[in-house]
Amino acid sequence: MIPSETEFVEQLRPAGGRRSGKRDVIVGIFLKQPGHISADALVDLVKQEDGRISRATIYRTLQWMIDAGIARRVDFGGGRFRFEHAYRHPRHFHLICTSCQRSFEFLSSDVESIVEEIAATRRFSAAQSVVQIYGVCERCQAGLPAAEPGLPADILFARDALRMAIATEKSGREFYGRAAKLTRDGRARRVFHKLATEEDDHLDRLERRYAELQRQYPGLDDQPTFLFFKGAANGLFASGTEELKEGLDERRALLIGIRCERGSYEFFKRYGERFEESEGKRIFLQFADEEREHLDLLTREHRALSGRTKRPARDVRRRRSIGVTHR
Ligand SMILES: [Zn+2]
Ligand SMILES: [Zn+2]
Repeated sequence: MIPSETEFVEQLRPAGGRRSGKRDVIVGIFLKQPGHISADALVDLVKQEDGRISRATIYRTLQWMIDAGIARRVDFGGGRFRFEHAYRHPRHFHLICTSCQRSFEFLSSDVESIVEEIAATRRFSAAQSVVQIYGVCERCQAGLPAAEPGLPADILFARDALRMAIATEKSGREFYGRAAKLTRDGRARRVFHKLATEEDDHLDRLERRYAELQRQYPGLDDQPTFLFFKGAANGLFASGTEELKEGLDERRALLIGIRCERGSYEFFKRYGERFEESEGKRIFLQFADEEREHLDLLTREHRALSGRTKRPARDVRRRRSIGVTHR
């Protein structure tokens, strides 16, 4: 379950950290801000709520929130710092417009993998990586006024997680449908057929969830992409489908399926586990579980099929060992 705001703060509160009424007011206001806020803007908001809270207390609380992991401090360049909270706010990188001063969030698993690879190669124990892209946003380039603040990042994250899972299901369905058509072996064909049907069911469920999100958040599809992952755009099974050719051996087809399912399972599991508690995280992990089941099924079938084709060889060995073979 996604924790409430209070549970979120309680989880992060340092041991022995005392509760204070003023601090709770400041934290409460801060957590209600959807985007990035300057320290001065936070002071104004808090003072509107309770004029007795001093600027020094607000600054101290901001620092306390940073230390506790409730707030993140973002350098927007030119000596400007903004603060954003971590509650239901997946980690992300920033595109920062130097004209309208707005920031736009995104996350890319490709960028993260490269960063990790570099750190690992240099034997660097990385604690945090920050990617900021400075420039001019689309609206400023066109001379348009700044757009209204968009939907919160965790909603866009959930939307994009669903889009990725849907693209993967579609490519999976295509793969299994094609594999079933090309296989002659009755048992392998049944397995591929079963998996194609399951992908259909999963796809149906994911699409209903997507439609529900669209109903909840009008304009959802007009919002820019948050989550970027090159491999997921065409679906993680696309490369496997290309390998399915006429006259394909079923064991080979199973192996390609296993490779695709494993790739998909590992991707959704690895990223799902690392995301902060959110709807997108749950979509990733639930999807990973389903891919795991397919992977297990394919692995069992591959083992059974290999055993079946090897049996004659074993029978010969056994006969030999009991001296039945004729010289
Ligand atoms: Zn701009
Ligand atoms: Zn941000």
